[in-house]
Amino acid sequence: MQIDLVCGDITQLKVDAIVNAANNSLLGGGGVDGAIHRAAGPELLDECRKLNGCPTGEAKITSGYRLPAKYVIHGVGPVWHGGDKGESALLASVYQHALTLCEQHQIASVAFPAISCGVYGYPLVEATHVALHTIDETSKEIGWSGSVTLCAYADSDHLVMQRVLADFRAEN
Ligand code: ADP
Repeated sequence: MQIDLVCGDITQLKVDAIVNAANNSLLGGGGVDGAIHRAAGPELLDECRKLNGCPTGEAKITSGYRLPAKYVIHGVGPVWHGGDKGESALLASVYQHALTLCEQHQIASVAFPAISCGVYGYPLVEATHVALHTIDETSKEIGWSGSVTLCAYADSDHLVMQRVLADFRAEN
């Protein structure tokens, strides 16, 4: 199980699948969702329309169209309401569903943005902890041995995530 961290635009990454921080409608939005739809082209929205949305904590897969990535996995993270509304379990569930789709579709490399850490307001340190622990545990549980890239966008987020990843590596 390999987990790396990069800083940049997830739509440019040459991996088998990128994960979208989508909303329940799966019909596009701002932030990374908007960037993915712009880069993938209108065919992505056409396919998303057929999916009938997605519950919070789950994920659905589409083709990547004009992206370098073959697939987009649309995961719906929770809105942060202070941390006592089941947010961490819902965020972990998105990572679990996304990795299960990787296993089912023979995806060997996947990149995640900081799901829920933009307009949904999830604190980045806590979210990165959840991401790392869930990726590690789920990969072992489902027997998936691909490579995972966490993709920060802002330089300041990259620095924060680097520290959390270093702590995680020291503990594991
Ligand atoms: P959410 O609604 O789940 O909070 P956002 O898209 O608002 O989703 O933000 C999620 C994270 O994605 C934020 O950390 C944001 O900085 C980051 N982000 C925005 N655009 C991109 C991009 N092109 N590539 C990678 N990450 C991005």
